[in-house]
Parts: sequence; structure tokens; C-alpha cells
Amino acid sequence: MKGPIYFKQLEIGPMQNYVYLLGDPTTHEAAVVDAAWDVDTIVRTAEEDGYRVTKDLVTHFHPDHLGGDLMGHSIRGAAELIAKVPAKVYIHKAELPFVHRLTGLSASDVVPVEGGDEVAIGNLKVKFVHTPGHTPGSQCFLVGNALVSGDTLFIGSCGRVDLPGSNPEDMYRSLTRCWGPCRTRRSSIRGTTTPTVRAPPSATRSAPT
Ligand SMILES: [Zn+2]
Repeated sequence: MKGPIYFKQLEIGPMQNYVYLLGDPTTHEAAVVDAAWDVDTIVRTAEEDGYRVTKDLVTHFHPDHLGGDLMGHSIRGAAELIAKVPAKVYIHKAELPFVHRLTGLSASDVVPVEGGDEVAIGNLKVKFVHTPGHTPGSQCFLVGNALVSGDTLFIGSCGRVDLPGSNPEDMYRSLTRCWGPCRTRRSSIRGTTTPTVRAPPSATRSAPT
């Protein structure tokens, strides 16, 4: 998209997650990336800036990005968002079994997507890039020349590949296949500041933690 984009970064929750608001300044429609922890603050921030949230773009199913049950602790997230505003939850189709297990979201709340799909937020186009590795359905969002990378890519490292569902070989393929062509793009925007574990391409999966 040529022209201005509404873009705001919010650091929310005890795990140093970054939540993003992306919007079209012409139509004042916005999407939230990874609504979690403090949904009230996310919606209020958008509204105070003059935007209405119509979509939750989810990078992957982990509850600190989606909401839901995390080791017995309930984290507010997508379910609370759509109870508050008329939004749909966009997540890669490979994450669906986890989505329904961890959250109270129904099939009609969710729009399953795959790599290459696009969604419009007003006049703003967001392209979904499937980058498995951290989870099977991890995805990044390409907005103009900027990439919102979730837990796939951090500054100086990639996301963890030692969690249940992670796969280091998939992560290596995602990073080399996608980031090669993307390398000339201007910026990558991480999803969380949580410390990450580097894994060589040949690393095998370690025990779940
Ligand atoms: Zn994660």
C-alpha cells in the first residue's frame, strides 16, 4: 500500500509480548495482531485513535498470542476480543486443532487461512506468509515493505523450536525460503521480546518443556 498506514505497537502482559494495531487512515478500520492479555487496553487504544477493530490476525496458536489456557492459567485473548467487538480471527489452518482445544472459539469465529492469502483492512492489504517451525501453522504478515514476524523471527535470532509442535527443520526452511526473497525488504517486526533459543538446521527436537 502506498500512503500512510496506522501502525501502533503495544507491549502487553508479563511475557513481554508485542501486540500491533494495523489500520487504514482513510476508512479507520484496523486489525489487531495477536490480541492477548489485556483486550480492554487494545480496543480502547484503537478507539481513542479513532479506529474500529474488525480483525484479529494471529501469528500462531500459543496462548500468549491467541489467549486461552496456558498450563492451567487462563489468558484473555481472541475469545474476549470478539465478545467485545464484531471481529473475526484469522489464523493458519494448521493451527485449528490447537485453537479449538485451547480457547472457546467456535468454527464460525475463525477464518482459516494459508500462505499467499490476502486480507483487506480498508484499503490496506495484508498478505499471509506461512512460516512453520515455531509451530506448524506459524505465519507472518506482509504489509507493504514491513513484515510482522510473530515468534518466527526476532532481532538476531529465530523463535524457539524446542516446544511441542515445533520443528527445527521446518524453521530452517521457512527462514531460508522466505527470508531470502524478503531480505531486501525494509523491516521485520517481532511479536515478542521473549528470549529465544537458536537451533542449527540439523538440530533434533528436544523434549517438550
Ligand atoms: Zn510462540
